Amino acid sequence: MRFIGINGGTFDPIHYGHLRAALEVMQKVGMEQVRFVPCYQPVHRGTPSVSAQQRCAMIALAIEAQPQFFLDTIEIERGGPSFMVDTLRQLKPHYADGSTSLVLMMGMDAYGKFCTWHQWQEILELANLVVMHRPGDNLGFAGQEARLFQQRAVTQFSQLYGQIMELPITQLAISSTAIRADIRKGIPPDYLTPFRVNQYIQKYALYRAQPDEQ
Ligand code: ATP
Ligand code: MG
Repeated sequence: MRFIGINGGTFDPIHYGHLRAALEVMQKVGMEQVRFVPCYQPVHRGTPSVSAQQRCAMIALAIEAQPQFFLDTIEIERGGPSFMVDTLRQLKPHYADGSTSLVLMMGMDAYGKFCTWHQWQEILELANLVVMHRPGDNLGFAGQEARLFQQRAVTQFSQLYGQIMELPITQLAISSTAIRADIRKGIPPDYLTPFRVNQYIQKYALYRAQPDEQ
């Protein structure tokens, strides 16, 4: 089986928490590539602080040295609210050889709300899931997500879709929210994001204003 990682997020901005997690998951699962899919209009949160083009530019700078990482602007080109189910439906025909599995990657915080996602049952008919540990997620998940996990948990994917794998990864307590808050206080995100991303943030003076001023 061939595995293609789908790494969705707001990436506002991308940081080493995203990058290291993607690398470790790619290596552990044996993925051929990881596609970074920035959302256009997030469904469960407010408008991003910077434009889709700027978030894409930062992803491109962050991943340029890793040939198995790709920027996929599918949600930005589609516009409107970014439902992952639509993205997977759109990607599926490109990987319809019968032996390629799309593997949707998400942190435990995201998986904890998975059953509120638009047409989540359909997502499980289009992709496998990897749930990555994240600092602060020690409580794990509960409710419908926990039951779903009990039914579908595997340590290795044996099917093209519908299975869920929980993966421990190096725990990096980095978040875009904390980076944005730091920058507003005048603290640049040195060593939390790649150097060139920092340069880009400085060059365009991103994240300096209060969110409601942007
Ligand atoms: P924000 O604080 O704005 O929500 P974030 O740091 O959580 O930003 P997102 O773009 O929301 O980043 O996250 C995209 C995906 O990456 C989510 O599935 C999230 O769980 C995961 N992720 C983000 N940061 C980390 C991290 N440090 N370790 C592991 N996974 C992470
Ligand atoms: Mg987040």
